[in-house]
Parts: sequence; C-alpha cells; structure tokens
Amino acid sequence: MIDIKGKNIRHVKNMNRNVILEFIRNQGPITKAEIAARTHLSFTAINNIVDELIREGLIMEAGFDISSGGRKPILLDINPSGVYTVGVHLSAFSVKAAVINFRGAPVVQEETKLADAADRGALIASILQAVQSIIDLSKLPREKFVGIGLASPGPLDPNKGVILSPPNLPGLASVPIRDLLEERFGMTVRIEKDANVMALSELWYGAGRGMSNIVYVDADIGIGSGIVFGRKIYQGFPYGAGEIGHGTIELDGPKCNCGNYGCLEAVASGMAVVRRAGEEIRRGTGSELAPMYFEREDSVDLEAIIRAANRRDELAVNLLRESARYVGIALANIINMITPESIVIGGCLVNEYPPYFDQLKEVALPRCFSSFHKDSLLQSSVLKSQAGVIGAGILGLERFLAGAS
Ligand SMILES: [Zn+2]
Repeated sequence: MIDIKGKNIRHVKNMNRNVILEFIRNQGPITKAEIAARTHLSFTAINNIVDELIREGLIMEAGFDISSGGRKPILLDINPSGVYTVGVHLSAFSVKAAVINFRGAPVVQEETKLADAADRGALIASILQAVQSIIDLSKLPREKFVGIGLASPGPLDPNKGVILSPPNLPGLASVPIRDLLEERFGMTVRIEKDANVMALSELWYGAGRGMSNIVYVDADIGIGSGIVFGRKIYQGFPYGAGEIGHGTIELDGPKCNCGNYGCLEAVASGMAVVRRAGEEIRRGTGSELAPMYFEREDSVDLEAIIRAANRRDELAVNLLRESARYVGIALANIINMITPESIVIGGCLVNEYPPYFDQLKEVALPRCFSSFHKDSLLQSSVLKSQAGVIGAGILGLERFLAGAS
C-alpha cells in the first residue's frame, strides 16, 4: 500500500514538473505568479519545482518583470544550454547534422554531400560520421546530450527504427539505423519521416508557434506532408499518414515513382516541373533555358528553372504557376477534410520563388467549403531549409521532456 501511495505522489510531482517545464518553455520569460495563475498549482509546489529545475540547469532566472508595487518579480526562462540534442536531416543528396540547444536553435551545423545513394556501407558511414563530427565540433561534454533525432525520406518504420525502401536512397533499404546510432553513441535515438519532422519544428519554433494542430506541406523536388495533432506527430494507424504527394490529382496523369499514375508528385513536384520544362523546350516553346537545355539537358534542373522564373522567363513562370495550381487544389482538399489551425508550406518552390505562395492562396482559398477557415490559414515556412534538422533535434528533445519525469 505504502509503496503504491509513494509512487502516486511521485507521479503527481513529476506531472507537475513537466507542466511547469513545458509552460516555461512555451511562455517564458514568465513569473511564478503567472505560472500559478495559469496552472492552478500552489506556490509551495511551484517554488519547490522551480528550485529543482534551476539546480538542474534546465531553467534560469532571466531578469525582472515590471513591478506593480513592491519587489520586482523574477522572470523565469528556459536555459538554452540546459541540454542539447543532435538533429540529422537526411535527403537524397546530403546529410545535414546540427547540435540543437534547449531552445531549439542550432548551435553548430554541417552538411555533407552524399556520393552514391545506392552504396549501403558508404551511406551508413556518412550518417555516423556526420553525428560524430557535429558532436566534436560543438565541443560540448557528452553528458549534455540527451538524444539524437533522424529525419529521413520514407517509407520507414519509426517503431522498429528501420528505414524501409526509400526510392531516392536505395542503399538504405532495410537499414536498422536507429540501433546502429544507439550502439555507436549510447544515446536514445528516434527516427521519423522528413515531412512529419518539419511539421513538428514549425509548430514548436516556426509558423505554427502557439498552435496545436497544423499540417506542413513540403513543395520541393518531391511533395510530402506531415500532420501534427494535439502537438504530436499524427502517424496514422499504424503509420504512413501525410502522403498527400501520392494522392491522385489527374486521372490519366503521368506515372509516378510510386508506381501509380497522376499523383500530385508526378504532376506538380519539382521533378515534374523539370520534366515539363524539357517537354516544352523540345516542342519549341521559347525560353532562356532552351540554349542550356540543348547544350546539356540536365543543366535545366529545378534550381535553374526557379532562377529563370525569378527573372520573369515566361516558360519558367508558367510551369511554376501550373505546379501551384495543382498543389493549391491539394491544399484546399486538406482544408476541406480536416481544417487545421494552419497549413505551413515550405520547400524550395515556396522558399525560393515568392509568387508561388500567393498563387497557392489564390487557388486554394476560393475552393474551401468550410465556413470556419480563415484566410490566414495558409502560411509560408519560417524555418525554411532548417525545418528538417531542427525538427530532428526536437525528436530527441521531445523524448527527453516526456521522460524528464
Ligand atoms: Zn505516387
């Protein structure tokens, strides 16, 4: 009996501790009085827990609030150097690693190009080396690190910690990357699909700050999306949610990498824009890209097309508008289905070609049926190309905060 009671008391204290830590993390700098007013915990409980969190270096005193008469109240905030995680963002072309502080900011980061997407040994070595190198570069003591998060192209199984069969990284098929990283670094490791992680990072530190339910759409060379509900990644049952890129948008459309036809990704992604540029140039459509294409076809890549569009090249502008039309319709479908607090759109099409975002809005908003949506529902990414690596770091932080009890 006594033992059970003891556990219950400890459990309640841990819950209160997590509530206060989360509160300070989200709302800080904040006074004890504000914590008391918002959490309904007693001053004694708050004092004890705050003292404990300061002793552990997780929070700190951060100046004084304006006095309303009498002593100025002390402000409490998260201690950015309380703990750190390693975030790793893997793409078909590179591995990006960063050390993320307790406030979600990268303190050091590095990007390494991947030589051969089919070479299993070299890919694993590159990932392990990227983590080792970023830890060394940070010069932080090992005990400051509480976890590693890896964002990777899917499909993958986060519960088993295995990357399954990514079409653009064939060398990583069936690689138990979580166990390999845990064995090598002796830290807790979590893996997640890249777009899920980007959704999480925009919610914690980007366009979705202060919200609980958002969708992130990555409009890049491929098209992915991630859903966060109740501040947690919505994985589907058992996994696999968020594949907006493989929803059919054109019944008789071109074949997709996934094997189906007319997927959003096959029609409107960066890959599709590049394919369409080639088709139009061969058909004789005039463009500043045409001479480049006839000299070397693969020089007309997505980067070159975005550059041309930013210089108002008519073909490039039209191709990106065509892509935005399809993606805009997909956004309207998401809104009609789940009406999230916000859809955050990132990826190079939005980040590097600003008119794209306006075109998405023009297409999506008039197609929204729901009377509850707001025009401000669509937002462009705040974290941009950092969203993946910061989100991966958050995976480690999330686990630490859940277990900080
Ligand atoms: Zn597909």
